[in-house]
Amino acid sequence: MLKKYEQFLKDFDKKLKKYFSQQSEYICCKEGCAGCCEVGDYPFSQLEMMYLMQGFRTLDNNTQNIIRNNMNTLKQNRVTSHFFYQCPFLINKKCSVYKYRGITCRTFGLAYLTDKKNKQVKLPECAKEGLNFCKVYDGKEIEIDPIKENLDLPSVINSPLAKSHKLEFGEIRSLINWFPG
Ligand code: SF4
Ligand code: SF4
Repeated sequence: MLKKYEQFLKDFDKKLKKYFSQQSEYICCKEGCAGCCEVGDYPFSQLEMMYLMQGFRTLDNNTQNIIRNNMNTLKQNRVTSHFFYQCPFLINKKCSVYKYRGITCRTFGLAYLTDKKNKQVKLPECAKEGLNFCKVYDGKEIEIDPIKENLDLPSVINSPLAKSHKLEFGEIRSLINWFPG
């Protein structure tokens, strides 16, 4: 299943590359900017989680231990099952498992339609902080056309592209909730 998922990711990344290039004028993501990994709930399906952990196993012992410590601290500070937190895989503002990151991680930064009928747009949180799309967003509306495809996780895993790869994604949980305790 993970081999099939990698094939899907190749096609999905190709599509995202096109979307990032369409919106490049308004996107300022760069290495060292990690706001989107510092506060969030990071939905992951079971299949993405298996792939992420495959990436974890490729890391050296020291890096694995940093992630384990991040995870333990997070679990100790968890107040409810739904809360926002820094991703435990983020180390020195870099994703330690970049190649293996989730679908939501791959779409961070884009502006896309979540509801075609009501024209609801999902913008990155950093639009309010002077980063992506801040030139065309007044705090309420965006002046440019968003990508006309819903790129939230449930939509992506039910998309024709995912279906063409015959994948079973399993249930979706916030990343931390894949590590009970
Ligand atoms: S989406 Fe925003 S916070 Fe995340 S890397 Fe891009 S500019 Fe930085
Ligand atoms: S897995 Fe990587 S890209 Fe995704 S939220 Fe964590 S640090 Fe960020």
